[in-house]
Amino acid sequence: MAYVIAAPCVADYACVDLCPVQCIAPLPQDAAFDTAEQLYIDPVRCIDCGACRDVCPVSAIFFEADLPVRWRHYAEVNAAHFRVPAR
Ligand code: SF4
Ligand code: SF4
Repeated sequence: MAYVIAAPCVADYACVDLCPVQCIAPLPQDAAFDTAEQLYIDPVRCIDCGACRDVCPVSAIFFEADLPVRWRHYAEVNAAHFRVPAR
């Protein structure tokens, strides 16, 4: 399991610099930056430290098991952002 960013994210980047493993994206230099609706957490690299959740001004970050029912699908939305498309 990992932490997950859900619907309320306003992309203010408050969480990005606090992540000890840099697993929150996209960053301004990333190709997906212009089209991304929010930021996402890579569930493979997240070490479940919780630092990001504590700074989010809109409470958009949840431990996966604690996601509200209406936002459960965001676990897959976050994971999908980091998957390499099949060729
Ligand atoms: S829980 Fe920790 S490791 Fe995971 S995204 Fe947040 S700050 Fe990064
Ligand atoms: S701190 Fe919250 S609102 Fe800001 S970018 Fe991170 S998840 Fe989104």
